[in-house]
Amino acid sequence: MNKENSLIVRVIFVAVIACLPLSLENCSTESIEFEQFAFNGSTMGTTYHIIIAGRPIDAQERSAIATSVDSVLLDFNRILSTYEDQSEISLFNRNKSIHPIPVSQKLLRVVRAGQDFCEASNGAFDITVMPIVNFFGFGFEPGENRFPTVDEIDSWLQLTGCDKLEIGDSVLTKSDPRITIDLSAIAKGDGSDYIADFLLEMGHKNIFVEIGGEVVTHGHNKEGELWKIGIDRPTIGGAPGADLQHVIQLTDKAIASSGDYRNYREVEGKRISHSIDPRTGSPIAHNLASVSVIANTCLLADGLSTSVMVMGLEEGLEWLEDRDDVEGLLITREADGSFKEYMTSGFKTYIYD
Ligand code: ADP
Ligand code: MG
Repeated sequence: MNKENSLIVRVIFVAVIACLPLSLENCSTESIEFEQFAFNGSTMGTTYHIIIAGRPIDAQERSAIATSVDSVLLDFNRILSTYEDQSEISLFNRNKSIHPIPVSQKLLRVVRAGQDFCEASNGAFDITVMPIVNFFGFGFEPGENRFPTVDEIDSWLQLTGCDKLEIGDSVLTKSDPRITIDLSAIAKGDGSDYIADFLLEMGHKNIFVEIGGEVVTHGHNKEGELWKIGIDRPTIGGAPGADLQHVIQLTDKAIASSGDYRNYREVEGKRISHSIDPRTGSPIAHNLASVSVIANTCLLADGLSTSVMVMGLEEGLEWLEDRDDVEGLLITREADGSFKEYMTSGFKTYIYD
């Protein structure tokens, strides 16, 4: 037996002894967190990475977990993906009725969250932003290689806003047949929560779930420590993880980031961001380069990070500071190319580096 195996046996032995006087329910397995199962895949046009730490998981169980995670994510995409022609959201977007349109509870739940973000952010976050997202080439249409005319912007402003959609118990009603919705800003965060809950329900207590940079953590890593997560420095075109602004540590919390540095296009020689200000009908044009938000759910972190990205530094920082359930890190790009960081008062307690 090699040294590592003998250590595993010893740790199991200690854990079993420690559990004997307790009822099975109270018998904590926290002391045997020494193994991990990590796997990854693709979903929602990006990648996911999942780590489960704790008891050993054999090959058969590993494959069953990975298969069920993939099928949950496929289901998710079949509802929320605007890139899938036959997804529920795409069918809804093509439906030109102004009468109540029946939708699934799964779609309704995310739309309701989107509408809540819209109201809380005074329209900085807005799921009816789809026509503008499409024009600039960040949606399911190829996009134009020019800036819009004033008339085009005016016509979008008729079709965007929190009041353009009415939510019923099992229906959504468009105020105009041309209304289309985009849940991409919160789909990854919500998906991360969904997969984390799915794994918790299966009995895994120590988990790290990340979809496209939006992360949910529970319990501890295989060293029995808090989960460590890198926050990228927002260098234009920088590869994820190549240059970190900070490493933070988390447990039972989520973190999501929005940024202008990875998903952008060049139009008429100008770099345009995929974060759109629905109130002006234009891509954001300020020096906020990235926002990371820590919250109890990844859906909340994701919705807030996009909202703050649209609001900009002053309004966004104040808005986050006013909430007592979240913390945020905002990084600006200065005229000389350097970065400057701003954080809410409690953010530093999460910094590890
Ligand atoms: P980030 O990680 O930068 O937040 P996301 O993919 O989560 O990126 O969100 C960006 C996407 O959200 C855009 O591509 C677009 O589909 C959508 N979006 C852009 N602006 C807004 C907005 N103001 N409100 C809601 N959704 C938006
Ligand atoms: Mg987002």
